[in-house]
Amino acid sequence: MQGSESMRDGLLEYSTGRGRSRIMLPDFSTQREKEKYFRSLKEDQKIDAFGEIIEESEHIVFLGGAGVSTESGIPDFRSKDGLYHKTEKRFSRYKPEYLLSYECLRNEPSVFFDYYRKNLDARKIEANTAHRILAKWESEGRLKGVITQNIDGLHQKGGSKNVQEIHGTTLKNHCMSCRSVYGPDFIFDSSDIIPCCPKCGKTVRPDVVLYGEFLPEEAYQNSVSMIREADCLIIGGTSLEVGSAAGLAHTYHGKYLIIINKGKTKLEGKADLVFHDSIGRILELADQGL
Ligand SMILES: [Zn+2]
Repeated sequence: MQGSESMRDGLLEYSTGRGRSRIMLPDFSTQREKEKYFRSLKEDQKIDAFGEIIEESEHIVFLGGAGVSTESGIPDFRSKDGLYHKTEKRFSRYKPEYLLSYECLRNEPSVFFDYYRKNLDARKIEANTAHRILAKWESEGRLKGVITQNIDGLHQKGGSKNVQEIHGTTLKNHCMSCRSVYGPDFIFDSSDIIPCCPKCGKTVRPDVVLYGEFLPEEAYQNSVSMIREADCLIIGGTSLEVGSAAGLAHTYHGKYLIIINKGKTKLEGKADLVFHDSIGRILELADQGL
């Protein structure tokens, strides 16, 4: 083993010389013992422990929400700087949820598409550090996949292959009648207010899960299977207040649970490690020395 070994606060540490100290995670015989161990860690030791968890785990899954995309500059929906609080005047008489609902698409499609084009075009947005490190971990065989509530396609842009988009994506569209498939430009660059299918003349809509709609069955079932098999679940950038991610998070019974979110998250009491910080920063620190 390289580097010097030392005992500090009862933890065996290895200096790797690459920014992160290495600590040995004990074999926990009980849940209580594990809780006690993680609660005893100081802030800087938490990163080291996270790195060791990544090293040790064989089936890591990342479950992410809006906070992953905000680090690329995409506003989330609910925070005080988010989309819901920045609605332009002409939309202000509508409830924000209504503007992204199936009801709005059906009853006032011109309002729906106007709002959608103005606010959800992420084609020029770049992937950030968090996306890139998750993709790196997947390519190294550490991470099995990403489950995301985001609809911007940034995980794939960052290089991830197995991405379950439980709220759909703005990068695909389909005709509501003949089901023909169209790319993102079809709606975002359309000169018609309501984009029409060239094959049948009916409305083309985004493959996004709107308020009032069910989650995509395949993505959801894949997510359930991934979480069932996971031995480490990292939850990032979500307060778990939206039903779908919260429901999935509750089905997790694997060994390690890590939460990274700037604000409070509902499952913090059950997590081994909680970081109230930037996801990109924490993943980058954990990645150092892997
Ligand atoms: Zn059609």
